[in-house]
Amino acid sequence: MVERREKLPFIEACGPYNRVSSEVVLPSETRQMLAEVHGSGVWKASLDERARYALFYLLNQNGESGIACSVACTDGLARALRVLADDPRSGEVVEQLEKATPEHWIHGAQFITEIQGGSDAATNALRAEPAPGSGPAGASREEGLWSLTGQKWFCSNLTADYWLVTARVKGGPADHRGIGLFCVPRVRSGEPNGYRIVRLKEKLGTRAVPTAELELAGALGWPVGPLDAGLKNTVAIVLTVSRLHNVMAAAGVARRATREAHAYAGFRRAFGRKLAEHPLLAASLREISDTADRAEAGAFATLDAWLEAQASPDDHDRALWARVIVSISKAITTRRSPGQVYSAMMILGGNGVEERFCALPRLWRDAAILETWEGPYTLLLMQALSDLVKFGVKGRERSFLELGLGDHLDAEDSRELADILTAPDEDENILRWSELVPRLVGRFEDRALEALRTGD
Ligand SMILES: Cc1cc2nc3c(=O)[nH]c(=O)nc-3n(C[C@H](O)[C@H](O)[C@H](O)COP(=O)(O)OP(=O)(O)OC[C@H]3O[C@@H](n4cnc5c(N)ncnc54)[C@H](O)[C@@H]3O)c2cc1C
Repeated sequence: MVERREKLPFIEACGPYNRVSSEVVLPSETRQMLAEVHGSGVWKASLDERARYALFYLLNQNGESGIACSVACTDGLARALRVLADDPRSGEVVEQLEKATPEHWIHGAQFITEIQGGSDAATNALRAEPAPGSGPAGASREEGLWSLTGQKWFCSNLTADYWLVTARVKGGPADHRGIGLFCVPRVRSGEPNGYRIVRLKEKLGTRAVPTAELELAGALGWPVGPLDAGLKNTVAIVLTVSRLHNVMAAAGVARRATREAHAYAGFRRAFGRKLAEHPLLAASLREISDTADRAEAGAFATLDAWLEAQASPDDHDRALWARVIVSISKAITTRRSPGQVYSAMMILGGNGVEERFCALPRLWRDAAILETWEGPYTLLLMQALSDLVKFGVKGRERSFLELGLGDHLDAEDSRELADILTAPDEDENILRWSELVPRLVGRFEDRALEALRTGD
C-alpha cells in the first residue's frame, strides 16, 4: 500500500550539488510497482486485448490509483502512437513499450485540461509553433519539432517519460480544428524539456499519483497525427481508452470493496453470531455483491463492444454504439462507485473508516475522483446524445439500440429515445435523456450478466 500520508509524491526543489531542480519524487514502493507493471509485457501488441484488460481489472482491485492512472495514460499513449504512426520518433516510443522490462520501462501521460476548462477542450490556449531551426519533418531527430508554451492545469502521472499534450497550433483555425496533439518527452539530452512545475495539487483522492499545474516554456515535441485533427484524435483514441479504464476501475473497486466486506462479516461477531448471519446485514452484503457483479459484467461487455468496433472499422453503427456505450457506462458506473465503497465501509463499522485497518477509505477517496476524469457525468451524457444526433440515429432508434441491448431492449425505451430525438436540444428532452441513460445501462448490464450466467 503506497498511498500513505508519509509516502506521497513530493517536489524536490534542489537536485545533486544543490542545482536548482523541480522534479517530482515518487516513493520507492510506487517506483517498484510501476516497474513491475510496465515491465511485465503488458504493452506488447501481441497480447490478447481481453487478457490485457483482465489484468487492468485485477490491478484496479489492488486499488493503487498511482499505478492504475499511469497504466491508463500509457495505454492511451501506446494506442495513439500506434494508430497515428506518422513519425519515426513515435515508432521508437512504441518499440520501447514493446521491449519494456522491469529494469527498462517507460510510461505516458496526457495533458489536455487548462485552467479555463477541461470539458470544453476546444478552448485550449497553450501555443504550439515550429521550433526555431528545427526545419521540416525529416530523418533527423531534431527536425519537425514544435515548441510548446503555456499552462496545463491538471497534469497527472507527471513523472511519465512521454506526455501527450494538446495545443493551439500557430496560424491554425480558431475552433477545435486549431488544436494539435503533440508527443513531448519529459527529458531531452538529460535535461528537463522546457517546463516548470508550478505546484502539485492537493487532492481528495488518487493521492499516490502526482498531479501538477505545469508551465511549458518552449518544451519540444512532435505532432501526433494531422495538426488539424488533434482534438478529434484525442477524444477518439486517448480519452476513449481512458474512459474504458475508468469503467474497469469502477468495477475493480466495487469487487475489492465487496470482498473486504464479505471477509469481515464472515468472522466478526455481534450479539452472539457472525455479522453475515444478521438478516439486514446479509441483505447489504447481497446488494453490494450484486452491484459488483453488474459492474464487472458491464465492464467486460463495454470492452467487447469497443473491441468489436475496432475489429470492423467499416461498420459505422457498431463504432457509434461503442462510442456511446463507453461514454454512458463510464458516466453511470463511476457515479455509482463511491456509494458502493461506502456501503462496504459501513459493514465494517468504525474499522471501515480507519486508514490503517483496511483499504476502504483509500478506495472511497479514489472512487470519488473517477467521475471527473475524462469527462464528468453530465458532459458525457450530453456527448452521447449529441453523437446520436450527429450520426443520424433518428428514425432507426430501435435497430440501433438492439445492436447493444439485443432482446433486453424495452420497446418503451426505444420509443422514448425516438421522442427525445425529435427535439434533442429542448431542455425537457435533455432531462428525459438523463433518465433514460441509467435504464439503458441497466439493461446493458442485465444482458451482460445473463450472458455470463448462461455462458453465451
Ligand atoms: C485528480 C485529477 C486528475 C486529473 N488529471 C488530468 C490529467 O492528467 N490530464 C488532463 O488533461 N486533465 C486531468 N484532470 C482534469 C479532468 O479531466 C477535468 O477535471 C475534467 O475534464 C472536467 O473539466 P473541468 O474540471 O474543467 O470542469 P468543467 O469542464 O468546468 O465542468 C464542470 C461541470 O460542468 C459540466 N459540464 C461541462 N460542459 C457541459 C455540457 N456541455 N453539458 C452538461 N454539463 C457540462 C461537467 O460535467 C462538470 O460537472 C484531472 C482531474 C482530477 C480531479
